[in-house]
Amino acid sequence: MVTGSKHLINTADEDDKQGIQVLIDCGMFQGQKEWRERNWQDLPIPAREIDAVILTHAHIDHSGWIPRLVKQGFGGPIYATPPTIDLCSILLPDAGHLQEEDAEFYNKTRASKHHPALPLYTMKEALDCLELFRPVNIGEQKAISGQVSFCFTRAAHILGSAMAEVRLTTDGKPLKLLFSGDIGRIHNNQIAPGKVVHSGPTEGEDCDLLVMESTYGNREHPRTDPRPEMAALIRTALQRGGTVVVPAFAVERTQKFLFLLKQLMETKQVPHVPVHADSPMAIKAVEIFLKHSEEFSPETKALIAKYGSPLEWAGFHFDITREESKQINESHYPSIIVSSSGMVTGGRILHHLMQRLPDPRNLVLFIGFQAPGTRGFTIKNGAAQVKMFGQEIPIRAQIASLEQFSDHADTTELLEWLRTFRRPPRQTFLVHGEPAAASQLRDAMTRDLRWNVQVAAYRQKVQVA
Ligand SMILES: [Zn+2]
Repeated sequence: MVTGSKHLINTADEDDKQGIQVLIDCGMFQGQKEWRERNWQDLPIPAREIDAVILTHAHIDHSGWIPRLVKQGFGGPIYATPPTIDLCSILLPDAGHLQEEDAEFYNKTRASKHHPALPLYTMKEALDCLELFRPVNIGEQKAISGQVSFCFTRAAHILGSAMAEVRLTTDGKPLKLLFSGDIGRIHNNQIAPGKVVHSGPTEGEDCDLLVMESTYGNREHPRTDPRPEMAALIRTALQRGGTVVVPAFAVERTQKFLFLLKQLMETKQVPHVPVHADSPMAIKAVEIFLKHSEEFSPETKALIAKYGSPLEWAGFHFDITREESKQINESHYPSIIVSSSGMVTGGRILHHLMQRLPDPRNLVLFIGFQAPGTRGFTIKNGAAQVKMFGQEIPIRAQIASLEQFSDHADTTELLEWLRTFRRPPRQTFLVHGEPAAASQLRDAMTRDLRWNVQVAAYRQKVQVA
């Protein structure tokens, strides 16, 4: 499924229980209750027996369970690229804060069967676990033990994202395992304008075992420029006196949207109205985004050179306090609000949508993937109402989505990337996709590439030899 990514390597054989255990990604489950409940289950092995974590990128569905892992006794190093560490330093404490708010809400309303309702982890616990992060640059070989080493290669998905190439030496026999994490768009081109990070994922891979994501295993992204449609949708909503609410991941996706919006305003395709980037992380997110210019596509570099820092733009507000956020809520003038979480699973976006969803003048514009079971998925797929803070909120606002913003390769792009492999992996396991997406990608890979491909099952164990 999409969310909850965790893959464990254990080098122990049947007689030797002292092998090295390395966890690749440590994501939180999001979406349906049935999935979210997995966040409360214990791992199949004690957390303290894990030697190290390798983190492919900062998205919460890959990193959000780290504070829980640490709470359960993990004390080893967490390897990640420098931008991923910067992003985690704001995202994980924010996730802890949201967990605490949720628990507080359930305790106040007694809406949970658990008394008292507890957070999965607190903001303080998330801050404490940041000490375990160790920076590893793309291309740098890092030894975990005499048997296990790894190297990050480019995933081109979000700022700092990487694939983990893991080398195992057991019985003197070398094996290479590749964990893709999330895979970005294949090439820089005008098809995906606003693409922030540069170039496609590293090509020419070879490995014995491939563990690969399949989010868009049965989908193709539109090949059109999203800007004309984005401008038309926003213009129409503003003209009828509505406000535009954009649920977006706070880092990168939000900045990408803001840069395009600025461009549309400067070229008079969208009227100048107040724009609010409403997230407690908004300012830090812009700072991190601007700090890692080495990761940018030429297009992003040109936009930054032309327009400078979004923090300086007239009419663009980066809101930090709860009070400032409330003020936006109370305003009745047309504006554009970009807020997180991107899948409407928590955060300030809830308050904005609660306020704006019942009014048909408003527009809710999705620019990111909505996992089944999330409120974002419900709203995007035409539901008449959605539950927030224990209330059913009627959905009368216009709902629209732009798929071009995706940071995931689609099926054609994934196959194109796989064709650059120097040899077929002996085994490929597809993960991180809904069942239909994973199985259709498996079929396409079996048919077009003639590779040995399986869809991984939850807690499935595989012998690599
Ligand atoms: Zn991701």
